[in-house]
Amino acid sequence: MELEYRFPELPEWKDLRIIVNNDNGRLSALIRGKYSLRAYLLIKTYFIFYDKIGSLATYQGANVPSLYLTPMPSKAHNRMFSAFLSLILLKRPLPMAATIGITTQCQCTCLHCSAKDCSKKQSILSTEELKEVSPQCIELGITNITFTGGEPLLRLDLEEIISSISPDQAIVLIFTNALELTAQRTKLLKKAELFGVHISLDSADPSEHDYLRGVNGSFNSVQKGVQNALEAGLLVGISTYVTIEKRLTIVFYQLLTFVSNGVFMKFPFLMVFKLEIGKMNKVLPLIKRQGRYYYRTVKK
Ligand code: SF4
Repeated sequence: MELEYRFPELPEWKDLRIIVNNDNGRLSALIRGKYSLRAYLLIKTYFIFYDKIGSLATYQGANVPSLYLTPMPSKAHNRMFSAFLSLILLKRPLPMAATIGITTQCQCTCLHCSAKDCSKKQSILSTEELKEVSPQCIELGITNITFTGGEPLLRLDLEEIISSISPDQAIVLIFTNALELTAQRTKLLKKAELFGVHISLDSADPSEHDYLRGVNGSFNSVQKGVQNALEAGLLVGISTYVTIEKRLTIVFYQLLTFVSNGVFMKFPFLMVFKLEIGKMNKVLPLIKRQGRYYYRTVKK
């Protein structure tokens, strides 16, 4: 597949065109129009880099190198790349991702939860308000919108909110504990053009996961939720957190054994919870030594 990228929102680069080609997963870019040597080198390096990284999954024929990035090539990626050029070449940073808490309600009682504190102080945005917020995010340049909570699947208007966002503008993801990630719900989410789900998993030991979540059977829901989401054609990421007790290598090893049929995505990603903030000075050198925190992505 081939797509021509244009940058009308960057007056300095309005004559620049990039023809991005994806030939069976191999990415390349032809540069046309007016550009500087610096722009040429930057663009070439970017696409060579992502060609070398490879694709963990495909989405409508485009490469998905990470759940946090728009598929390449795609109209949404044209927007993301425009923000990248704006930042590097013009020193005009644009926001690229927004995480929106859409409810404080949740079935779990996790020790590390920060949503509990919000529930007393924050009012919840209505369906109409959320349908207004998303275009505002997009107007700012955002290309990744993630809905979280509380538990976002407790909102029955979630699909309506998701479907109000054009996939040509931004990818949409959710974070979920998977308790409501039924076969029927995953089909509805796919129909609404959800890009992917991040499913929380605190431990590969079922009883430990259930204990940390405060709900018996939540580990089983994660397993079923992963399966349902994959069958519906959604991209799936497993989200966990590092504590000093659960050392990085152990978390990594456990997750490797949890889901065996997927692709493995290397992505530096660290979730810091208030419970562990006092210990982060010990955790960060560990992260550095290990090189990367590994994040699991599974394709259908
Ligand atoms: S599942 Fe998420 S929102 Fe619910 S209690 Fe746990 S951390 Fe908080």
